[in-house]
Amino acid sequence: MAETPDNSVLLARILETLGQIQGDNKVFAASIDAMNGRLNALADVKKLKDAVKVDTPLRPVTPASKPVDAPFSPTTDIKDEDSAASKRPATSRIILTTYPGQSGIDPIIMNWGHEDPMQRGPVVVSRAGSTVRRRNAIGAHGGSYSIYHALAVAINELKVDHKPDFTNTEPAVSLGPFPQWSDPKKIVAMDPLGHLAPWLYKDYIGKEDVEIRPTIAITKAHMKLPELEQSMKEGRLKVDGKICLNESGELAVTKFAVEPVWYLPGVAERFGIDEGTLRRSLFENTGGSYPELITRGDIKLFLPPIGGLTVYCFGDPAKMSDPNVKLALRVHDECNGSDVFGSDICTCRPYLIFGIEEAVKEAQRGGSGVVVYFRKEGRALGEVTKYLVYNARKRGIDRASDYFMRTENIAGVKDMRFQALMPDVLHWLGITKIDRMLSMSNMKHDAIVSQGIPIHERIPIPEELIPADSRVEIDAKIHAGYFTTGKVMTMEELSAVQGRAWDDVDH
Ligand SMILES: [Zn+2]
Repeated sequence: MAETPDNSVLLARILETLGQIQGDNKVFAASIDAMNGRLNALADVKKLKDAVKVDTPLRPVTPASKPVDAPFSPTTDIKDEDSAASKRPATSRIILTTYPGQSGIDPIIMNWGHEDPMQRGPVVVSRAGSTVRRRNAIGAHGGSYSIYHALAVAINELKVDHKPDFTNTEPAVSLGPFPQWSDPKKIVAMDPLGHLAPWLYKDYIGKEDVEIRPTIAITKAHMKLPELEQSMKEGRLKVDGKICLNESGELAVTKFAVEPVWYLPGVAERFGIDEGTLRRSLFENTGGSYPELITRGDIKLFLPPIGGLTVYCFGDPAKMSDPNVKLALRVHDECNGSDVFGSDICTCRPYLIFGIEEAVKEAQRGGSGVVVYFRKEGRALGEVTKYLVYNARKRGIDRASDYFMRTENIAGVKDMRFQALMPDVLHWLGITKIDRMLSMSNMKHDAIVSQGIPIHERIPIPEELIPADSRVEIDAKIHAGYFTTGKVMTMEELSAVQGRAWDDVDH
């Protein structure tokens, strides 16, 4: 039976409309490409002019439709650009941003939290020629050091197409995998497969020429600290030949260096905000450095330009995840002035050393001792803010009661460490409980416990290790909620706790 004429007309119309929609989509995509090209062209003209003006060598920016490999020197006339094309090794076309579905955009699979590494996919962030369209992450490797990488390329110290040789760089000890690695709620701020990436995904590197780098490295080392040498002499620390090696207090340690990799939906959730708000704030507050935070909603990973962390593990690393042995843990945030240079205005180095000594002792008793060191200088406000606060404290009366207010007056907040992401590394290490927490911080405690890792005992810094001038800091912190087994001062008592003035320091 033949179809009724009405139906075939209708069908023809539907097909025609579909065709038009497809056509419109192509035009739309082409317009976006063209806009990109025009932006490049505008930037091109401006930068070329600027370069001539300030006599600065600069790679030219050319329209998307006309990629040119051309070096630019201030003496080169703009018209001569093409004639110089053959001398420039890297492409000079700048891709300002990309869009999902744009022609050539083909991100490598990324199912964050999938337990099968092949289904999960590698973290791909490089903008190298063969990788730029395959990226599934925004940002750059190396955290804050990505800028030095940029400098090295800019001055031709580093070839932009350098291929790392990872021979013999494999982790010095094996770790996991743990069930936490495939829980997208538990690990959102680092890549749980980051130490294995070049080996797990060697086919992508070898067959598809995709650049994949590890974001974690694991090594073994010896370390020596003058305070622990003293502990040996005074009999607090004993030689066992395995963890504490000799009479000079030399320690055997396994170290894990971790660079941040953020799974944006998970990070946003951890802070109780929506992903869009997080992306917008990251974009705006990095000077608009990462436009793909806005244009590539399909890319969920971001390698932020911030410091990472280091895990110092004493004893057998396999014991960190063993629920049948005790674990002592210190989570320490960087304080370069005290940690390295011995400033006595705070308790940072004394507490760090105490943490290491207790970690070593726990390992010697057959358990595990771990110190995690985060690059979050000066409560993640940085040293400039920190020194401004020191000045304000020492020029006024350095009272414990004013301690946090001084920071808040300058920075607007008293602390930007926001410990919400900190427990990820504990999940990654397979830690399921902490027997002895060598920290008084209520923020660290609450973050860890809210991630489902119980803390059985909290150990404050012993009184005798607190330098006189750091009473202001420690008493203010205890008053603000830091854990203590001692007394919490009243506000009145707190105002009586005063630090040294500059005059005392000078003499
Ligand atoms: Zn400090």
